[in-house]
Amino acid sequence: MSAFDVVVVGAGPAGIFAALELMKNGNLRVALVERGADLEERLAMRQGQAQPQEGSNPMLEGFGGAGAFCDGKLTITSHVGGHLAELLGTERAEELLSEVEQIWLAHGAPRELHSADESFLADLGRRATLCGLKLVNVPLRHMGTDGSFQVLGSMRRELDGKVELITGNGVSRILVEGRKVAGVELDDGTRLQSSVVIVAPGRGGATWLHDEAERLGLVITPGAVDLGVRVEVPAAIVAELTDNLYEFKLLYWARSFDNLVRTFCVCPYGEVITVRHGDVVTVNGHSYAEPTSDNTNFALLVSSRFTEPFDDPISYGQHIARLANLLGDSVLVQRLGDLRVGRRSTPSRLRHSILEPTLKSATPGDLSYVLPYRHLRALLEMIEALDKLAPGVGAGHTLLYGVEVKLYSSRLQTDDRLRTEISGLYACGDGAGLTRGLMQASASGLWAGRCVAEALGE
Ligand SMILES: Cc1cc2nc3c(=O)[nH]c(=O)nc-3n(C[C@H](O)[C@H](O)[C@H](O)COP(=O)(O)OP(=O)(O)OC[C@H]3O[C@@H](n4cnc5c(N)ncnc54)[C@H](O)[C@@H]3O)c2cc1C
Repeated sequence: MSAFDVVVVGAGPAGIFAALELMKNGNLRVALVERGADLEERLAMRQGQAQPQEGSNPMLEGFGGAGAFCDGKLTITSHVGGHLAELLGTERAEELLSEVEQIWLAHGAPRELHSADESFLADLGRRATLCGLKLVNVPLRHMGTDGSFQVLGSMRRELDGKVELITGNGVSRILVEGRKVAGVELDDGTRLQSSVVIVAPGRGGATWLHDEAERLGLVITPGAVDLGVRVEVPAAIVAELTDNLYEFKLLYWARSFDNLVRTFCVCPYGEVITVRHGDVVTVNGHSYAEPTSDNTNFALLVSSRFTEPFDDPISYGQHIARLANLLGDSVLVQRLGDLRVGRRSTPSRLRHSILEPTLKSATPGDLSYVLPYRHLRALLEMIEALDKLAPGVGAGHTLLYGVEVKLYSSRLQTDDRLRTEISGLYACGDGAGLTRGLMQASASGLWAGRCVAEALGE
């Protein structure tokens, strides 16, 4: 059995930033365990030069984690992307975010900050209010799917030789003896001995972490589920917003059911893509640093929480996504005009459009057979409001891909040093339900690494 001072589970931003922080102290033996492939191999898979392993998803798994390998928008505020401000206090959260921002920049993230000037923001905010929408200002940097690879490569080189990176082998069990961590067991049966384990398995590993937390008797609170569609429009229709803000974050409270609907992950001149979570295929979007299409896509998501007796929002989201897969054999695409008149889209109806879908593999179908009434109503209301702000979003040829679902992990109870109730077991990132974006995930990883180093007296 190999022995380490710290084992970090998952090499997404949270795990990488924890490892970068820990390796600053040359005395600690640190293992970073990643179920997916190493970075170069991931790139080869994305470029079709290598085959992913059966059941694996190189888009979400592997060195770099999920969104840092794809799209890579770094949002510079503690208002979005997680619960760090609530858990650590706004001041500490902002300090950590500034620190990780500098680290991303040092590794080559673009210096250009997408942030509109005050007078534009004031005017747009006023116009949004008149349409029943609330504008949230989120300055960001965009690495692009291509740029992210370079930045992650730089982080990978920094870890090289200082941290033991184990890829293509996940952690199957956290080993605990008498409420103290003793190490981990890997998928191939190897055991790594360690008195400290930092779990950072992301959303892809959230179900695994949930099951482990239940087995270990840890307190977990169910999260929300955000369910909706990816909207694709000619880029010109939202160019005023994307040229000035890049990402427009707009909130809407549905008249019908009072649910919050929000725009999310705007991809100017980008592409709609599919993402596989186990046996479920959902939609997402990304943009390269340079335009690759004449379309802009963004998600519209309806947030729901459940209380009791049902407390499994992840299964709920997966169930709806499976329904779309059942009808379409993958994800569905529908013209807004077809949805409105109650008919499915067909390949020939899709051709009657000024808009060319960027996701060719989506099946033309009928989203009204998939989305619950509550969600459908809320989405249509939000599109109506958006159409007032950006005329054309509500046009008949606007494409809706479904479903997009954000399976936010159940939240693992931790203290403000990210310690769980099991001595030596720390949690960070999206998988523990603490964060929802690259910057907060990175900040939580850095903080976990720092707290561990201090606890070990380094
Ligand atoms: C397509 C897409 C685009 C996105 N774009 C953006 C964006 O532009 N900006 C933004 O802020 N956010 C974005 N996000 C969200 C962002 O990716 C996450 O918030 C962030 O990656 C979370 O970091 P993490 O380290 O917690 O988890 P992840 O990045 O998911 O990394 C976790 C890693 O752990 C590994 N793992 C899981 N279980 C195990 C196990 N048992 N053993 C070993 N390894 C394991 C996984 O393979 C994975 O590589 C996007 C997400 C997706 C899916």
